Amino acid sequence: MTSIAQLPRHADVLVVGAGPGGAATAAHAARAGHQVVLLDSAVFPRDKTCGDGLTPRAVAEMSLLGLDAYLADRPKIVGLQMHGWGATQHIRWPSGRFPAHGSAVARTELDDRIRIAALDRGASMVEGVKAVGVDVSDNTVRSVQVAADDGTASIRVGQLIVADGVRSPLGRMLGREWHRDTAYGVAARAYASSGRADDSWMGSDLELRDAHGTLLPGYGWVFPLGAASGRINIGVGALATGKRPAHMALRPTLEHYARAQTADWQLSGPPVEIASALLPMGGAVSGVAGGNWMLVGDSAACVNPLNGEGIDYALETGRFAAARLQDGDHSHAWPALLAEHYGTAFSAARRLAGLLTVPKAVPLLGRPGIRSTTLMSMVVRVMGNLISEEDDDLIARAWHTAGVASQRFDHRRPFH
Ligand SMILES: Cc1cc2nc3c(=O)[nH]c(=O)nc-3n(C[C@H](O)[C@H](O)[C@H](O)COP(=O)(O)OP(=O)(O)OC[C@H]3O[C@@H](n4cnc5c(N)ncnc54)[C@H](O)[C@@H]3O)c2cc1C
Repeated sequence: MTSIAQLPRHADVLVVGAGPGGAATAAHAARAGHQVVLLDSAVFPRDKTCGDGLTPRAVAEMSLLGLDAYLADRPKIVGLQMHGWGATQHIRWPSGRFPAHGSAVARTELDDRIRIAALDRGASMVEGVKAVGVDVSDNTVRSVQVAADDGTASIRVGQLIVADGVRSPLGRMLGREWHRDTAYGVAARAYASSGRADDSWMGSDLELRDAHGTLLPGYGWVFPLGAASGRINIGVGALATGKRPAHMALRPTLEHYARAQTADWQLSGPPVEIASALLPMGGAVSGVAGGNWMLVGDSAACVNPLNGEGIDYALETGRFAAARLQDGDHSHAWPALLAEHYGTAFSAARRLAGLLTVPKAVPLLGRPGIRSTTLMSMVVRVMGNLISEEDDDLIARAWHTAGVASQRFDHRRPFH
């Protein structure tokens, strides 16, 4: 915990939030020679409600942070074991531009490790101190007010990175608005001891039912955390829109789902540490930048609308933000950059996710879909955010075309 007397009075780059988005920004910016202060209201290591799954794209970003060795003795996840409507498909992550494996690491550990990578590269850390206010003129943040247990202070800033997560209190002070007319998620996770903690497949259930057998508009997951941990991360999620809010009772659904997985995943106890959270998705926010500030990660709603994964986007947007620190006014350039990288895919994915909030759509698409290996391979590629702008194969082109078409009908495009 940092005391008020120890606080710096000025930061060339102040990064608020030391999750993957903020810590990655701090690491890349410090490596590029900026004087960086990374500030978080929590004291690390801290937990973050999450499925703990790392897609191959997240593994690639970890590598850019010099963390290959750290991931070397973590689970190597080769693909998704997908279940539903009496069928199971094992779909490997596609080979290509990204590593052929993903991983899963509890966020208590992962976030602390990325944060330390930022400190190793020269960033300094302020813990247990909350950003509570901003002093803005001409769309430029001059200083950030902070509060610690022993008082309040003000830090003058050259540039500000807002990486304060899903609710983004600081982003909101700067005018960030979350629009719930497109799909967003609600999800809960827990941990359980498992005889299959060393499995190399992630479990994904497209058919989720409650204790009465009623089909729910959601999905379930089981992510093995490795032999050393002896645990799996288990969770359930639901998609919703402002018009069709999710009425799923997350905790009982998760407990029922865990009971249903007990034999298959050799669970030896009930789910513990149950926690839930909202997930803004698909760039459904406006007000993501100003003259000298940018929002990254969850605060910019950079979460895949089809499965709620956001760690890779947080790491990536942190890298992009660090790279444009020296480029001057971010007001238009930052939303344009985010839209260029994610706009078409987010538009198509959130439209599809919105369709999945219609109760009859899930079995209609899911029942035949799960039986088609080709279709499921496409789904895994889209869900894993594994189609890059450079890809030029048939699926990538179809997905891109769908995104361009979808954006034409968007009442509000991603990040606008
Ligand atoms: C149930 C659930 C399951 C998920 N499963 C997965 C998954 O398996 N894989 C995946 O890739 N993604 C998953 N996600 C999404 C993923 O957790 C997020 O996308 C990711 O954490 C985003 O990182 P971030 O750095 O933007 O924000 P965060 O990790 O939320 O970090 C924000 C930080 O800001 C700090 N902070 C907030 N306010 C202030 C303030 N005022 N002052 C100072 N500090 C502040 C917080 O303490 C926190 O440390 C899941 C999400 C949920 C809810």
